[in-house]
Amino acid sequence: MNLKHKTKVTFYNGLTTIGGPMIEVAYNDSHVLFDLGEVFKPDLELADESFQTLIDNQLIGDVPDFYDYHLTGKKLSDSHWKASAAYISHVHLDHSKALNLLDESVKLYTGPITASMLPVLNKDGNYLLPAAGKPKNYTRPIIAADLNVPIKVGDITLEIVPSDHDAYGATGLIIKTPDKKIAYTGDIRLHGYHPEWVEAFMHKGHGCDMLIIESTALSWPNENHSEEFTGPKNEDELIDRIVQYQIDNPKRQITFNTYISNVERILRIIKDSPRKVVLSAKRAEFLKLSIGVDVAYYYLPGEEIIPILRSDLEVNYNTLLADESEFLWQAVADFDKLKSGSLYIHSNAEPLGSFDPAYQPFVDTLEQHQVEVVMLRCSGHASASALEKIIRGFEPNVLVPVHSMHPELLENPCGSRLLPERNQVFTFE
Ligand SMILES: [Zn+2]
Ligand SMILES: [Zn+2]
Repeated sequence: MNLKHKTKVTFYNGLTTIGGPMIEVAYNDSHVLFDLGEVFKPDLELADESFQTLIDNQLIGDVPDFYDYHLTGKKLSDSHWKASAAYISHVHLDHSKALNLLDESVKLYTGPITASMLPVLNKDGNYLLPAAGKPKNYTRPIIAADLNVPIKVGDITLEIVPSDHDAYGATGLIIKTPDKKIAYTGDIRLHGYHPEWVEAFMHKGHGCDMLIIESTALSWPNENHSEEFTGPKNEDELIDRIVQYQIDNPKRQITFNTYISNVERILRIIKDSPRKVVLSAKRAEFLKLSIGVDVAYYYLPGEEIIPILRSDLEVNYNTLLADESEFLWQAVADFDKLKSGSLYIHSNAEPLGSFDPAYQPFVDTLEQHQVEVVMLRCSGHASASALEKIIRGFEPNVLVPVHSMHPELLENPCGSRLLPERNQVFTFE
């Protein structure tokens, strides 16, 4: 058989790090790349985020024939490749931040919610890496693919399927070449709002030749996971606890914050809370622009008026600062102005955790002001036992654990396992 007519998988990045997977599947003269994120390593304290700096520090993959030639100085080889496409599983930066580095001639597909959220997240130019020669807040064209509908990329067919993760609109990918079926989970879990979508993904990908799976949860084998046993087991329980805090504290200021892309969590908090939920104007603007939802909001002192927000939904900031019973509101600044003795719920908001240098000073400030801090987390990633369940659901011939500090801890009970090196090319036999 001609070597060209074989399915080739190349693992460029994000293999033994949490995030930043960049993997290419090629067949004959067609190829696809997924995802397009940057590995998050704030401890590197890089002087800049230029293309070369990112490559040198292995924060993005050194992938040929996909990046913009203005960055690489090399034109894409159209004599070799007749069909090219890229895919992003969800909006998190470790999967999306580098999307503007993709050459404009390459079509970029995502699920529809991811496609509508990304340009809004980047509207001030603070989310994605900039595209060469474009304004800072430019977001390159993204195709909002219909879910569960095959997309032809030359000899390769992609199918984007709904999945579950703590980024709203997260999807997984099924790639079919003329001789192989490969599934890529993106980031995945079974304890979110839609485990049935993950079940359907497993069913669709069942018996695949290769399953490329995230294995974040295995990154800290020696850590004490006591919080996992006392924290919420799933997103439903997290919402129940937020409601319970309001019931248990009828006369106490209660504030909270969540991560911007976990839209479903914030919508559930708004829907289920006995108190009226008020968000920052910036978060309200994000929800309005990305999914068209109107919510109650407040402006911080000196903040510019946002014309698309309905004026009848505004709540005065001083009213919130004085309140003890009517509102549950999103605190994003002025933490020293919160009432002494009040309760603040930090629900996977930024700073995300102790790995971020900003985290401890943030917690210290709140404690200095006698604000009780409650960490109410629910992971976006499948636990070790859920990962095994997912693998058994797919029953892959070859398992490739990625997106973890310890991918070697994940076994394949259904077949063989591959632990690729960076830039390794795998060819099916
Ligand atoms: Zn990730
Ligand atoms: Zn993610």
